[in-house]
Amino acid sequence: MTDDVLATTAAKPQLDGVTGEYASKNELKKRTLKRAKKTATEAARAGKAAAQDGPSPVPVKEKSTTDLPVDRDAIFKQGFLAEVYGLRPSADVVTRFPPEPNGFLHIGHAKAIAINFGFAKHHGGKTILRFDDTNPDAKKEEYFDSIQDNIRWLNFRPHAITYTSDNFGKLYGLAEKLIELGRAYVCHCSKDETQKQRGGCDGKEGRRYRCEHAEQDIATNIAKLRDMRDGKYAPKEAFLRMK
Ligand SMILES: [Zn+2]
Repeated sequence: MTDDVLATTAAKPQLDGVTGEYASKNELKKRTLKRAKKTATEAARAGKAAAQDGPSPVPVKEKSTTDLPVDRDAIFKQGFLAEVYGLRPSADVVTRFPPEPNGFLHIGHAKAIAINFGFAKHHGGKTILRFDDTNPDAKKEEYFDSIQDNIRWLNFRPHAITYTSDNFGKLYGLAEKLIELGRAYVCHCSKDETQKQRGGCDGKEGRRYRCEHAEQDIATNIAKLRDMRDGKYAPKEAFLRMK
């Protein structure tokens, strides 16, 4: 009985851990010896190569990045943001984060939030969350809520929440003022035409030039802007452009 068990065990194929195959005990023993020999040869070769390259360097103990102290305010203490503050140091820093509530924020917004809110926080100031909600087609209640959730999740609190649409009258008044100063005009060019005027793709395809609308007089521009306000143009039929 005992002999039978031994015989069965010996004949039973065994798993080769390297190839994942099953092989007889003898075959496995052969393979193991062959591999050991190969490893020894490779090690000897590597040792020879290292000897030719000179003495082996003193091993450097690598420091884990988790051991390094982290200064979360470092970006405000050095580099560009420190220089910006240095230009006009103020005890009353106010920044704004102005998202368009036309969709959910993406990972790139985290940078804008961290800089706008972080900069003010670092200097003891405040940040205003200003929803740029002047496009009535795209805005949705859930976007307003989600944006505020994201800001809270990043551990920031807006000092106040404002809506650009609340200032629409003021913005319209400023647009008329720009026309009166000769700095803006109403244009009817298409998107393609406008891009051509700006020098084509990336401004590198041709010279920049102004369209005929830029030559309109102030009275014409004011009349057209009022028509825009009063809804006399279809969408994308008229634009206010800066000179
Ligand atoms: Zn034009």
